[in-house]
Amino acid sequence: MKITDIRIHPLRTPLETPFAFSQGWVRHRSSTIVEVITDDGITGWGEAFAQGLEPPQIAAAVIDSALKPLVIGADPLDTEVLWHRMYHATRDYGRKGSVTAAISAIDLALWDIAGKAHGVPVHKLLGGAFRTKVQAYATGFYRISGQGEAARLADEALAHHAAGFRAMKVKLGYGLRDDIAVMAAIGRAIEGKGITLMVDTNHAYGVGDAIRLGHALAEYNLRWYEEPVAPEHIAGYREVRSRVTMPVAGGENEHTLYGFRDFLGAGAVDIAQPDLCSVGGFTACRHVMALTQAHGVQVNPHVWGSAIAQAASLQLIAAVPVAHHSVFAEEPIFEYDRSSHPFRQHLVREPAAQVEGWIDIPTRPGLGVEVDRAVLNRYRVS
Ligand code: CA
Repeated sequence: MKITDIRIHPLRTPLETPFAFSQGWVRHRSSTIVEVITDDGITGWGEAFAQGLEPPQIAAAVIDSALKPLVIGADPLDTEVLWHRMYHATRDYGRKGSVTAAISAIDLALWDIAGKAHGVPVHKLLGGAFRTKVQAYATGFYRISGQGEAARLADEALAHHAAGFRAMKVKLGYGLRDDIAVMAAIGRAIEGKGITLMVDTNHAYGVGDAIRLGHALAEYNLRWYEEPVAPEHIAGYREVRSRVTMPVAGGENEHTLYGFRDFLGAGAVDIAQPDLCSVGGFTACRHVMALTQAHGVQVNPHVWGSAIAQAASLQLIAAVPVAHHSVFAEEPIFEYDRSSHPFRQHLVREPAAQVEGWIDIPTRPGLGVEVDRAVLNRYRVS
């Protein structure tokens, strides 16, 4: 089998109601979708993660001008070989960010092709499923007007609960006083409902305020405290982790085995959160999972992309081992983005759907997605 072409689909659409995470106002949702074509009729789909503020054209340009010439004519089943080829060729200007997101998109498509070629879901190729269903947690609680939205966010918690979720991640990082008021309102609203909470500041604070927030939230029995400080401040992560009681999580802005080597080696986190669509794809995630296992760190994947990213992440999370084995070991949970995304679910014919807060791991070959080309065409950036 040979790769004959790569089609790139940068997608973008404005949001009717922009929302803020701690780093800025999200006014568009975007994705860079790729389609890897082979000479025997199998097509693989992949996605480069477009961060909340990231234009999808960047990864598209990397794929078109740098990566596509490296893989045309190659055997798509040579996933490891092609990953190293793409990484080495871009090392001097890549290693992180949009360049590894672009590598991720192609790598995902190659694994999709491999699954289809072998007639098995990707999790089989990754070594099998540790679980056949996964608990989903609601990611939400973004801001619409800014500070002072505690009452609305408490209502949002009740809405996630009514939709079946028993785990939720609250976006913080809008000022310590505001964050603490929001958590108090949510805590009161959900009391006695058996809900597990996590928080995520998207690295809004320095070490001092990150620790102060951790102390202020000690009473909520948080499953994790995500991105307390900037991703490149590894010593800061370690200090926060040594001073707060809850587990510290991070890694959505870290890339490849090399980035995670330093992150894990420094003892930065209890929970590593690689994003398949930016860490370097399944190939890089396999490298990272071996590192995390050696460091006694749990992988709990990050995902905030389209239905293709979600489908890929479900295949990955099936194959994530637990770091701390026991009869009642804590299993990874699936990030289920509840924020506005006009084309996320419509992009494929069978999108991931949670029922009572759980999702079955799909068993169709490859990523198991059938992409709706009308949706691609509708949202493609001209
Ligand atoms: Ca996050």
